[in-house]
This record gives sequence, structure tokens and C-alpha cells, in this order.
Amino acid sequence: MQKVALIVAAGKGERMNADIPKQFLLLNDIPILMHTLKQFSHFEEIVLVFPSTQFEYWETLCKTHNFTQEHTLVAGGETRFQSVKNGLNEINTNSIVAIHDGVRPLISTALINSLVAETKRGVGVIPVVPVKDSIRKVEGENSTHIDRNNLFKVQTPQCFLSTDIQKAYTQDFSDTFTDDASVFEANGGKINTLLGEENNLKITTQEDLKIASILI
Ligand code: C5P
Repeated sequence: MQKVALIVAAGKGERMNADIPKQFLLLNDIPILMHTLKQFSHFEEIVLVFPSTQFEYWETLCKTHNFTQEHTLVAGGETRFQSVKNGLNEINTNSIVAIHDGVRPLISTALINSLVAETKRGVGVIPVVPVKDSIRKVEGENSTHIDRNNLFKVQTPQCFLSTDIQKAYTQDFSDTFTDDASVFEANGGKINTLLGEENNLKITTQEDLKIASILI
């Protein structure tokens, strides 16, 4: 089956406090997003969901950095949910779709391939990493200890059959949809987990960018 990467990069990246959206910031002299796309260069198709106001800027950046990897640009939406939905609407082939945050450039191709290999009808596959810190639930003045033993942080890419995930994204938006797995599950899908990678960090703050530049 064909493999399609759906890279979402239409966020505003306000937590970065930079003048330009975080996905354009340079990591080793190349925009973060280009590192991310390169990790999916063995896929048959790449759909890049992007702010419609920045299409021209992206094309200029591609020229500046001699970036020639083929991809289809799609305009993003107000929420990540809407951005993913716009991207899914562009996919016409019966395929396996890997939905990935544009700001996770350090994903390995080995992990991508393992996730894809496990994906089947009715089953989505996602990477997770164990929580290392102690966890506390804070409610007003009170707080209680939470057992971290079975708690995991969720990463991307999250992989599904295209027809399965397209159907799941016809649901109305809910605040509980924080990733694609939660959308899929709410539509009756099953989620399998694989051990993710500590390096597969989501670059959200200036500190993350510094860490990524050491790790890369
Ligand atoms: O905002 P958050 O850090 O959860 O974003 C995760 C990914 O989703 C980022 O790559 C961001 O660009 C993307 N996103 C999007 N459209 C939005 C909001 C976020 O494509 N409206």
C-alpha cells in the first residue's frame, strides 16, 4: 500500500516568542520543517498543511535552501483538527497515512517505518514514551499524587489507513481531541502503541530549539 505523510505546520507557534512561525526557524542552518520533510522522503506522497498567508514565503525559502523534495501544499485551519482535516481531504489514494507535527524534525525513519508496518484496518499506531517525572493533579488548593507507572506521553507520527482516518475526521470537533488518536478512538477505532523516541521532541520553545540543535 502507498504511504502518504501528512505534515501539519499551520500553527502560529506563539509560545516561541519569535517574529517568524517556529516551523521556519533554522536548525543547523535549515528551516525545521525541511528537516521534518526529509525524514519522509521514502514516502510516495507528502501533503504539507501550511498557513495560506505564508505559501509565497515558503516557496522563497525552498528556493533559498535548494529544497526540491516534491510535496503538495494545503491551507491549514484555525485548529490542528481543522488543519489535519484539510490535509486528509487532499488524499485520494487508498493508503497508509502518517500524520506528523511539522515541528518534530528529529523523528527517525526507523520509527516511522515500524509504525507504518503495524498499521491495519481499524487499528491506528502511535509512538509513546514513558513519563519520567512524578505527576500530581492540582485542583485549587489541593493536589494528589498520580501513579506514573502506566502514564505515557504521546508523540507523532500517528498512522492509520486513509479511509479509516478520513471517516473519523467527519465527526464534529470536540475539545477532547488533542491528537489524531483521540479522534480515531472516538469513532470506534483501536489504538496500538509503540515505544517512541526521547529525541522526537516537539519544538515549542526557544529552549527546545537549543536542545534540538545539540541532538541533531
Ligand atoms: O499547537 P501545537 O504545538 O499542538 O501544534 C502541533 C502541530 O500542529 C504543529 O506542527 C502546528 O504547526 C500544527 N498546527 C496546525 N494548525 C493549527 C494548529 C497547529 O497545523 N491550527
